Amino acid sequence: MRKSLVVLSLMVLIYGVWAQSSRRQVSAAAVHFAPAAIVAFQKIDAERIRGHVRFLSHDLLEGRGTGQRGGDIAAEYIASQFSQYGLKPAGDQGAYMQKVPMVGITSARETTFSFVPAGGSARELKPLTDYVAYDETQQAESTVNADIVYVGYGVEAPEYGWDDYKGVDVKGKILLMLVNEPTSDDPNFFKGRTLTYYGRWMYKYEEAARKGAVGAILIHKTDMASYPWEVVRNSNSGEKSYLKLDSSPKLKVASWIHLDAARGLAAAAGMDLDKMMSDARSRDFHPATLPVKLQAHVVSKIRAFESNNVIAMLPGSDPKMRAEAVMYTAHYDHLGIRPEMPGDNIYNGADDNATGCGILLELAHAFSGAAQQPRRSILFAAVTAEEQGLLGSEYLGKHPPVPAGKIALDLNYDDIPPLGSPEEVEVSGSERTTFYPTVQALAAEFRLTIRPDAHPEAGHYYRSDHFSLARIGVPAFSINEGIKYKGHDAAWGMEKANEYTEKHYHQPSDEYHPEMDFTGDGVMARFGFALGWQAASLPKVVGWEKGDEFEAARIKSGSN
Ligand SMILES: [Zn+2]
Repeated sequence: MRKSLVVLSLMVLIYGVWAQSSRRQVSAAAVHFAPAAIVAFQKIDAERIRGHVRFLSHDLLEGRGTGQRGGDIAAEYIASQFSQYGLKPAGDQGAYMQKVPMVGITSARETTFSFVPAGGSARELKPLTDYVAYDETQQAESTVNADIVYVGYGVEAPEYGWDDYKGVDVKGKILLMLVNEPTSDDPNFFKGRTLTYYGRWMYKYEEAARKGAVGAILIHKTDMASYPWEVVRNSNSGEKSYLKLDSSPKLKVASWIHLDAARGLAAAAGMDLDKMMSDARSRDFHPATLPVKLQAHVVSKIRAFESNNVIAMLPGSDPKMRAEAVMYTAHYDHLGIRPEMPGDNIYNGADDNATGCGILLELAHAFSGAAQQPRRSILFAAVTAEEQGLLGSEYLGKHPPVPAGKIALDLNYDDIPPLGSPEEVEVSGSERTTFYPTVQALAAEFRLTIRPDAHPEAGHYYRSDHFSLARIGVPAFSINEGIKYKGHDAAWGMEKANEYTEKHYHQPSDEYHPEMDFTGDGVMARFGFALGWQAASLPKVVGWEKGDEFEAARIKSGSN
């Protein structure tokens, strides 16, 4: 075939496919793509995503635990794919791997955790049933015997005129606190129903340690945490990983207790838990010292090890702009294997997050196969230890392959349900960036309705790896399906989502099944490809909207 004929028939094909899948109700300028981009993204194949998920969630990978063999095999698999696609290594010194120094801490059987009322007898709590506890100071043994001070939500937020501590000295104390944050519908007060970072357990531990407390006890309540006790138990049992100790203050006892144990504690203190909870909702709340001490002896097995982020780069086509990059992220770790557990003890993590890895790899495949590259470079980062508290991405944020100010945008994938053909997309957080008009235009092109965060109170924005990039100022958000799928009503999608949360999320039953339909994972990959290509081509890097909580970090990073 003559060249001109090839070009012509290709253009007809492209136009046909493109026009079919779009309603031209948005300006053409917003969605202009090089033909090479369109060809490349049309080649994105949901069945290749399935193939990656099938392998990564296989029992042989033993749940891809951080610091476990299965996790390392997953990292090698991803690096091998990057290498097959001809991508440049962007980890440590010419390697795909970026070493992440960590310690694994296992709370030993000798650990004890008791509430001792003044003048009463000690009540020892049962591990996993009543409480979970870790020693963040990375010592083999820590002992505490200290007063318990109830600090409500444990939040000090000057911008909302809120201070649970009221200047009370909590040095050497154990702080008892509620999860979440004061609720209201006022968008100017802790962003209304939307959970802010203040509502996250990470913040509460950090703040307690900054104030000199030796321990913190979080009271679990399903509706307030937005996940059941099993999630707390499974994420806090067995070995738990931390980034190798840095200079920031840490707690000797970082713990959660079951709601029933909290009721017991309140009763032992002669207090009423419901009243304590309602007191905390007032601005006038004042910390209260309970007539109960926590006596805890935390014995830990400590294992230093390295895990890896896997990072690859596709250089951009513009000699100047290629110093900047668009980044894609997805965590490859899950909860691993629990050899001591009877029955199925492998946390395969098929949905969470073999799906995101499959999409990341298919994106890498599509970009590297394109006949022409966008102007900026593209980074692909499969990160470790997300389930341990976003540790791999935190390390990536502290050691980015390209300076934070030169990362135009981060697009993250975490847990993309293989349920069929989506009619909605969730891109929560994108509305806070200067990129939002492009997101809207492309969603319209893909005939995807942007679904507002169904549970803004759950704080999903702070619960996946894009948040680690946002903390260093990079505009970042996750891409996921909504709940409306072709051929079903929204109630069906909601039912599926609830069923997953209750029965499979962070449980060994999050497994691959051949009848899974990866159509939606393919659509999310194509949509993300289009977004990334645009962000890599626009004259300016993306920024946060004025007044956003991450704007200051963006400016500090030297982004223009
Ligand atoms: Zn996940």
